[in-house]
Amino acid sequence: MDKLVTDIGIAGIAGRMGCLLADMVRADQSLHLAGGTTHRRPAPDGVVVARDIAALALASDVVVDFTTAAAVADHAAALTRSGTGWVLGTTGLDAEAEAVVAGAGLTIPIVYAANFAPGVVALLAVAEMLGAALPASEYDAEIVEMHHRQKVDAPSGTAIALGRAVATGRRVALEDVRASGRDGHTGERPTGAIGFAALRGGQVVGEHTVLFAGASEHVALSHRAFDRAVFAAGALRAASWLAGRPAGLYTMRDVLGLGGAGPPLA
Ligand code: NAD
Repeated sequence: MDKLVTDIGIAGIAGRMGCLLADMVRADQSLHLAGGTTHRRPAPDGVVVARDIAALALASDVVVDFTTAAAVADHAAALTRSGTGWVLGTTGLDAEAEAVVAGAGLTIPIVYAANFAPGVVALLAVAEMLGAALPASEYDAEIVEMHHRQKVDAPSGTAIALGRAVATGRRVALEDVRASGRDGHTGERPTGAIGFAALRGGQVVGEHTVLFAGASEHVALSHRAFDRAVFAAGALRAASWLAGRPAGLYTMRDVLGLGGAGPPLA
């Protein structure tokens, strides 16, 4: 029989997302807060702090992880050992770390998303569609994002996911056409490039625009998150959906029942 209450562990429970997730888990009767891990920060009041990720994994059905890319390999090893589900929202993963996540998905169920907001999940689908509809030879794709001053990775995981969506629509690999951080004498814009610009400042939760710039028209898709609660609610929805599923690397499209594979790891 399925468990009525899902035990949720929160990696990085003292962080901005971690604190919010802890409050939301405690307010949800279908979830139980099994505890959390911290790193050089005191945990919020009343939280059971696990000795390490392995101990947290053993106490949890699903671990929700918004920490740092440097922790991904350790977390993957601990969660696969205990067979615990993993909702991974950490961004800034390099190709090696993403390969570790894909490998863990052979053993445990994982939802990995650069952005858990339902509006962004829909935006990714539309970006892929426009990527396919507007030829790269005529429309220059540029992705602009802005985040709070504490953010450590750029461009944001969501910006990269949007770039991958456009690239998937164009049937190219993002790595082959990506243009980030232009500065100095850059030369003309190569046809087919997908450009990224990252703004940092204030306490902006997350703003993204995908622009298709043609000679005579522009199409712009924009998303603005006002409150981190949208990410936390999406991550907990993913955690409830994931509990008891077979091993696999799932996306928010799967969680929201939107079908289709979507761009890889978006
Ligand atoms: P934050 O710096 O406030 O929180 C991260 C916390 O993790 C910190 O308290 C840090 O001490 C802790 N930590 C680091 N390494 C750890 C480890 N090995 N074990 C336990 N704790 C560890 O940052 P944040 O704003 O909460 O964001 C965290 C991550 O989530 C970032 O990568 C951010 O880009 C990402 N994020 C993703 C989404 C999404 O929807 N996918 C939304 C918001 C933020």
